[in-house]
Amino acid sequence: MQKKVTIIGGGIIGLSTAYFLQKEGCEVTIIDRSNMDSGASYTNAGYICPSHFIPLAAPGVVRSGLRWMLDASSPLYIKPSLNSDFLKWVWAFNKSATSSHVQKNAIHLRDFTVFSQELFQSIKKEEQFSFQYDKKGLLMLCQTERQLEKELEILTLAKSLNVHAKEISKDELKILEPSIEINGVGGVYFKNDHHTTPSVFMQQLKAHLKSKGVRMFTNETVVDFKMKQGNIDSVVTDKQTLHSDEFVMASGSWSADLCKKLGLKLLLQAGKGYSMNTQLSTGISIPTILAEAKIAVTPMDGFTRFAGTMEIAGINQTINRKRVEVIAKAATHYYPSIQLSVQEIEAATCGLRPLSPDGLPYLGKPQSCENMTIATGHAMLGWTLGPGTGKLVSELILNKKTSLELSPYHPNRRF
Ligand SMILES: Cc1cc2nc3c(=O)[nH]c(=O)nc-3n(C[C@H](O)[C@H](O)[C@H](O)COP(=O)(O)OP(=O)(O)OC[C@H]3O[C@@H](n4cnc5c(N)ncnc54)[C@H](O)[C@@H]3O)c2cc1C
Repeated sequence: MQKKVTIIGGGIIGLSTAYFLQKEGCEVTIIDRSNMDSGASYTNAGYICPSHFIPLAAPGVVRSGLRWMLDASSPLYIKPSLNSDFLKWVWAFNKSATSSHVQKNAIHLRDFTVFSQELFQSIKKEEQFSFQYDKKGLLMLCQTERQLEKELEILTLAKSLNVHAKEISKDELKILEPSIEINGVGGVYFKNDHHTTPSVFMQQLKAHLKSKGVRMFTNETVVDFKMKQGNIDSVVTDKQTLHSDEFVMASGSWSADLCKKLGLKLLLQAGKGYSMNTQLSTGISIPTILAEAKIAVTPMDGFTRFAGTMEIAGINQTINRKRVEVIAKAATHYYPSIQLSVQEIEAATCGLRPLSPDGLPYLGKPQSCENMTIATGHAMLGWTLGPGTGKLVSELILNKKTSLELSPYHPNRRF
């Protein structure tokens, strides 16, 4: 038997990590404070998207964020706060929002997303899972020439990174989506993106892990650690104390508080987003981002999902009805035949994206503790990067050469 590993958090990052560690013969336990059936890893747009190589911290975002602070309908909302962790995060975010940082981080994100995308495919094949894994690409749909110009700038950057992208004219929109009327002037199409139905993948992965003997403690919160000679001996939960050889912090937006207990100051904020589904046949066949509204539309297994908004307002999972309404209205604005029903809007769910300031995940062992691996901060790409992260964490824990160079992701990196 390989090592005993306890993973804190059973979202996409925790489950993917458990998958690769179990495959290597480790004895794996997952602890999650929730029922493991909701949150970011269930409510996301399901994109597996090498096209998303631009981090949130990009030039102009801070200015837009300040402008949008007072606008309840804006796609990005940052709640002002004097909390020192928040202020440090904002300072680091601002520092990262430069063209040179974006260029550098785009290369890392491109490589990481492609690596992870391939692993989705190999997991599906190897385990004979039946989850949706469609390659229909991703359309950035614009309603204004101004937005189209911005998207064309990204297209140029995409080409320089060897990410396939092409401009789509207004007439070509009709060819791409023949079964629905679209209110748009054109867009950019990334042909190599895939999409999934998140809850189906999560359910299949959970069932597989259970069948392989991975233990899962749900509705149980990790509250502390017991240390021995500078390393972690055990995690303390609200129900028990659990010893392991190695530990993984895959607790998403909640990770920073737990990291403090290990002497690691992780700059992390939660970015809340919402999604809602319609069972009606919409005619939408291509995953599409409504570019001005920043809303993701995904044709999933049996329904269409509309997901969006980035609300940086601490850790809370309350549903802001105003923002949910904005998503529903935008859907009709871009697709005049779509009208989400009151019930569909009321059934909206939310999730917290764990946001590092520079848009790169935190992945590695902190200097303060050798038997803890941090795996969080995946922001808007956590779904895409799940399997890749799981594989890299398993390589780290088993002292193998990692498939990607991990120094850009180090949890102790300076901003
Ligand atoms: C609306 C929306 C759309 C998105 N769309 C996409 C997309 O299309 N593509 C993409 O790549 N990404 C997307 N994302 C981002 C992606 O969903 C997240 O980055 C990803 O789900 C994060 O996964 P995680 O496992 O780190 O965190 P989570 O899914 O939040 O899991 C963390 C788990 O840790 C548990 N936990 C926390 N603290 C403790 C504790 N103390 N003890 C025990 N358990 C604990 C929590 O209960 C939780 O289950 C989207 C996100 C949102 C909100």
